[in-house]
Amino acid sequence: MSEQAPIVIIGAGLSGIMAALTLKEKGCQNIILVEKSRSVGGRMATRRIEKGKVDHGAQFFTVRTKKFQAFVDEWLEKGSVKHWFGNDYQRYMSVDGMNAFAKKLAEDISVRLQTRITVIKKNATGYTLTTGEGETIDARAVIVTAPAPQAKTLLENNDLQVDAKVLQKLDAIVFQPCFVGLFHLQQPTNLPNNGHLDSELPDGVLRIVDHEKKGISEMPTISVYMTGDWSKAHDDRSDEAILEKIKQVTNAYLDVDSVISSQLKKWRYAEAVQFLREPFLNTNLEHPLLVAGDAFLHPQDIANRTRLESAFISGVTVGEELEILLK
Ligand SMILES: Cc1cc2nc3c(=O)[nH]c(=O)nc-3n(C[C@H](O)[C@H](O)[C@H](O)COP(=O)(O)OP(=O)(O)OC[C@H]3O[C@@H](n4cnc5c(N)ncnc54)[C@H](O)[C@@H]3O)c2cc1C
Repeated sequence: MSEQAPIVIIGAGLSGIMAALTLKEKGCQNIILVEKSRSVGGRMATRRIEKGKVDHGAQFFTVRTKKFQAFVDEWLEKGSVKHWFGNDYQRYMSVDGMNAFAKKLAEDISVRLQTRITVIKKNATGYTLTTGEGETIDARAVIVTAPAPQAKTLLENNDLQVDAKVLQKLDAIVFQPCFVGLFHLQQPTNLPNNGHLDSELPDGVLRIVDHEKKGISEMPTISVYMTGDWSKAHDDRSDEAILEKIKQVTNAYLDVDSVISSQLKKWRYAEAVQFLREPFLNTNLEHPLLVAGDAFLHPQDIANRTRLESAFISGVTVGEELEILLK
């Protein structure tokens, strides 16, 4: 290994992508995003159902900071993002689905998909990462953006000797699951014209979205988001039983006879209900090894919740910090 070893960013969700773009913008070269899934985007996820499309992770961006507003404005101008609903408090959506936008953001970054990092070990000039396939990747610096519980698993191996305080901070981050029922319907729904409903819903239901009305699907396809408590309470049931239950509780909105097909997405790490008030963690090891992601909130973040904007800010901030550390 030499100075030529890349900067490796584990996880190609919004925080990983923003960390890579920030480093690139600052002139750093040889950056690799490593992602275990088949696509970049993480929780910016879109699934195809027949001829329909469904955003089954994040639905929209909300904006509270100037930096994120400037980013959203740039993409509004380019036509990749548009205003969806809300006047006082705007919600922005991706015009082709969230995942297409993530792909667009990452198009100039070197990405290795379907590569899960299972072990991080020290070497003389940085780190050696081992993949699920047993292959190794050397790195001069590493940013981990996997959700905090998964990041902690990577960091707690004995070889790294990460300070117990850093591991305790990661341990304090608690995520809730979110089960999402995806339904392809024969008939249009009776949801509001913008396709979004998040109030006066039955117990256990967080949000319902009609993607035909949202404007990203040619067919009536809907996603039903269940609360963290509901998702936990139904975790031991089969996918079929969970989908059946979601259909039952949403029968006022979902004409059961109109359902052509259904799928279930189980997010284990959807939203952090306990998060950190630091935009990233530095392990302070000899070579840079930093941890970031949506659960690392800026101390001045007024939203008090994890979301796309917190992932964006964490990614940008950790990228800026790593560039300084590498000087
Ligand atoms: C159902 C749902 C609805 C949501 N709705 C909204 C919304 O409407 N508005 C909003 O602002 N936010 C919403 N969010 C939250 C938002 O999606 C997240 O805050 C944001 O996308 C997190 O980005 P991230 O990069 O921090 O993490 P992620 O997107 O989770 O990215 C982490 C990546 O790391 C990868 N990874 C993990 N471990 C490894 C490994 N060992 N090796 C390689 N890769 C690995 C994962 O596959 C993943 O792609 C929602 C989330 C969910 C789940």
